[in-house]
Amino acid sequence: MNENRQVARKAIETARQCRELMAAHFLELDEAAKRGSPKIAWCTSVGPAELLRAMGFLVYFPENHSALLGATRMATDLIPTANAIGYSPDICSYLTADIGAYLTRQTPLQKAYNIESPPRPDVLVFNTNQCRDVQDWFAWYGREFQVPVVGITTQRGVGPVMKSHIEDQVAQMKAMIPTLEEVSGEKFDPDRLKETVAESLATTRLWRDVLETGAARPSPLTFFDATILMGPAVVARGTREATEYYQVLLAELKQKTATGEAAVEGERFRLYWEGMPVWGKLRPLSELMLRLQACIVASTYCNSWIFDAFDPDHPFEGLARAYIELFIVRNDDYKEEYIRNMHEFFRFDGLLFHDAKTCPNNTNSRYGMPQRLTEKLGLPTLTIHGDLNDLRCYSEEQAVTNIEAFIEQLAERRP
Ligand code: SF4
Repeated sequence: MNENRQVARKAIETARQCRELMAAHFLELDEAAKRGSPKIAWCTSVGPAELLRAMGFLVYFPENHSALLGATRMATDLIPTANAIGYSPDICSYLTADIGAYLTRQTPLQKAYNIESPPRPDVLVFNTNQCRDVQDWFAWYGREFQVPVVGITTQRGVGPVMKSHIEDQVAQMKAMIPTLEEVSGEKFDPDRLKETVAESLATTRLWRDVLETGAARPSPLTFFDATILMGPAVVARGTREATEYYQVLLAELKQKTATGEAAVEGERFRLYWEGMPVWGKLRPLSELMLRLQACIVASTYCNSWIFDAFDPDHPFEGLARAYIELFIVRNDDYKEEYIRNMHEFFRFDGLLFHDAKTCPNNTNSRYGMPQRLTEKLGLPTLTIHGDLNDLRCYSEEQAVTNIEAFIEQLAERRP
């Protein structure tokens, strides 16, 4: 293996439009917060954003802000401020970094967009489909801003999704409407919800198509590209702008596929990433993979914003199903079958599990899943110990050594 091999990252040309869309998103929120109109709802990343948009809210996603805190490497220094007010260093480092940022009046939005602070919420809306931490996180801000906190409590470890699950979710969603009407001052309009769900479905289908280009050999994009390009699927799904952006991105990726342009030059190994990104280490990890000629072609994380079940004709039922069918909500049998299907489609050579110290919810390596998958799929796995935002939990030296050894192991398996 050539340790000195230096390879430049392949740019995604249309990433510039993605950055513009993200800038517009934050500036629109900032202006609305200053004007007091439209009203602003904070929403969890896989929460009912479509309902909120349809009721006239602009939607802000604190997890996206926290990922920015991680990517800009501000998070690790901010976490102790939240620890000092009683939020343990062992709980979600999105939560602790974000509350730490609020308490110290810091945000990456200042440098990026000249925005002083995240927009003040008029209401906070969570869904515990991903974890309970989001509820505690929003409860803290609810007390701080003295605004209503409403949400959906979702079952965890779900096997087959049953009619009773959907009915429960729909009932909880509908129960939020009176509060949302009161805050927004707008009456709920079923037709507007249908339109928003239709737009969100268009966005999410394109996002799926984008990610599926990773099945090509060589792949035109990597996990590291996708973690950035997914921004509109998270913060702007349900808007025309997001849909149009993914049309443009998809065209670029199809063009790359047609001409055989590889995201990782000389792609030799194909990998799957299971778990959260290590936000503060995206660049060095991506450069390591380039050097090793290994492309992470797919991930559970980026797939989490594919919502096939959205249904404009039955908007509540479709939203309910989409937000409970998610990987993170499901039991291990489902998850293993999901990854088996991913392997069928993307044909990767090995799996990387990220054991994120502060996010057990998005960590699947602690109860024997890597071993079971190796047995079922005959694929090697490697578990990297780290965290999404708290870099004190991540040893770069150890991660690099382990990944290099893993790639050597893959190379030795080649005939
Ligand atoms: S899923 Fe993990 S990273 Fe996301 S909010 Fe919950 S604990 Fe934090």
